[in-house]
Amino acid sequence: MSRAAARWILIGALGALLVLLVGLIAVQGLRTGFSAMQLLAATLFVLPIAGALIGLLWYGRTLGGAVAGRTRAEAAAHASGESFRTVASTMADGIITIDDRSRIQYVNEAAERMFGYTRDELIGNELTMIMPESFRDRLQAGIQRYLTTGKRKLSWESLELPGHQKDGKEFPLEISIGEHTLGDEHVLTGVVRDITDRKRAEETLAESEAKFRRLVASAPDGIFVVNTQGGILDVNPAGEALIGRDRGQIVGHKLAEFIPEERVSVMDRYLTDRLAGHRTTELYDETWRGVGGHKINVQLTSQVVHPPEEKPYLVVSVRNVTNLQEMQRKLLESERWASMGRLASFVAHEINTPLTNISLLTASISRRVSDAEVQERLKKITIQGRIAASITQELLKFSRPGAINPVETNLTDLVRTAVDQSDMFRKPGVVVETDLGKEPVVCTLDPLRIHEVFVNLIKNAYEATPNGRVKIRLEDRGPLVAITVSDTGTGIPPDVQRRLFEAFFTTKKKGEGTGLGLAISRNFVATHGGDITVSSEVGRGSTFTVLLPKQAPSPRRGP
Ligand code: ADP
Repeated sequence: MSRAAARWILIGALGALLVLLVGLIAVQGLRTGFSAMQLLAATLFVLPIAGALIGLLWYGRTLGGAVAGRTRAEAAAHASGESFRTVASTMADGIITIDDRSRIQYVNEAAERMFGYTRDELIGNELTMIMPESFRDRLQAGIQRYLTTGKRKLSWESLELPGHQKDGKEFPLEISIGEHTLGDEHVLTGVVRDITDRKRAEETLAESEAKFRRLVASAPDGIFVVNTQGGILDVNPAGEALIGRDRGQIVGHKLAEFIPEERVSVMDRYLTDRLAGHRTTELYDETWRGVGGHKINVQLTSQVVHPPEEKPYLVVSVRNVTNLQEMQRKLLESERWASMGRLASFVAHEINTPLTNISLLTASISRRVSDAEVQERLKKITIQGRIAASITQELLKFSRPGAINPVETNLTDLVRTAVDQSDMFRKPGVVVETDLGKEPVVCTLDPLRIHEVFVNLIKNAYEATPNGRVKIRLEDRGPLVAITVSDTGTGIPPDVQRRLFEAFFTTKKKGEGTGLGLAISRNFVATHGGDITVSSEVGRGSTFTVLLPKQAPSPRRGP
């Protein structure tokens, strides 16, 4: 009989007893007539019974609810057990449940496949049978320690342990453990995942990363890894050498620190564009600060990297092309000089022959004619002929510009002669100052070539100075000697400064300048192993500095 039926029988019996009592009281009352006391007694008698009935009804409801609830819970538990088994059997991860003596209570299909045992072979056995021999004692001890003390040595989330298959093969596992209590019993449930493939992939990644690192470390170009804020995340040894600093002085710094101030905004724009994927320019010429902060010419290529769930970064490869460009410039220059020399020698030769004929014919006419006017014109022809001859002489200097005849020379005297000889170009409002030192400086050089260099420089200084001062200074610097020619003249704008030493570059009027003076001067000085530099400011004047070694490096005989 169900509890609900028993409850209704009980309620029915009490109800019948109540009706019986009320009936008896009523019959008795009708027969004898009701006194007030009787009515009160009857009421007092009936009310508790009615109250008990209501109470019973209420209790019955609650009892019924509880019974129904328990039944539902049992059904739900049954259903959830069923659904757990359904889910567990379809899961790719293995599920293993052990009791407090670490005996296997339950395994799903995936666990059977993973370890190569059937369920029957596993259930009731020690968990350690699916762990490698070497690991068993430790695992057993760990489980026991936990079950007795509640202390865990390792995290129970994503624990990596080796597994042991029936055929003896070991394989890597990732285990997450959960715990619950059944009555007094502790039950541990482990979800196990075979991570053989993941481990293999990680190793292959690690291997290729090591390969990549070796490649970057041995790369001849500087490689800088730069984040979105322009901060340097990494650098290779070639990058350290390029900048002349250790890794520790580069990583964590901004790339902008290694770029000249005037180029920072351009470089920033380049990086931003590259990171945004806008610019696809592969080669990019830039100026950086190299060893000792000196400017170097570099060529950049860069690659944007978008790692998953991280901010993108740039791998910038930097090649120092300063020496290469300098070599290219020198090669180009020497090729230009060579072709100019060939042309000059051809032209000078071709012009010299008719010029010689003109001067011979002029002389012959001059001897035969006494007319003063004709003589005057013949003189003019002779002067023009000489000018043309001097131009061809100039041109011939290009034919063998590298040839010098070095001899021991008093450079102080040579500069003084050049100052005197150039004096005819000085304007009345210009003062000349010389500071040639107390002791004469003796050098081994080609006096004709070097004399011509100083005449060129002093003449240019006078031509650029309407009034003011031109100063010539000679300074003994041990193995070198420095001669500066400075003026307070017009000064030279930057665009002209860049082209000063180009052959045939002149700002002078036609007929006043050939544009060859500085080109030839630099070539002569370079042949001596020296250099000419210029500094100038428009409106304030210019300074040309000639640096010469006291001993010309490898004397080459001229024609
Ligand atoms: P040229 O004197 O025949 O023009 P140069 O090669 O000697 O050829 O000089 C080239 C140019 O350099 C000149 O035309 C002039 O513009 C500029 N220059 C040279 N020296 C000076 C100077 N001291 N001040 C201003 N400009 C100068």
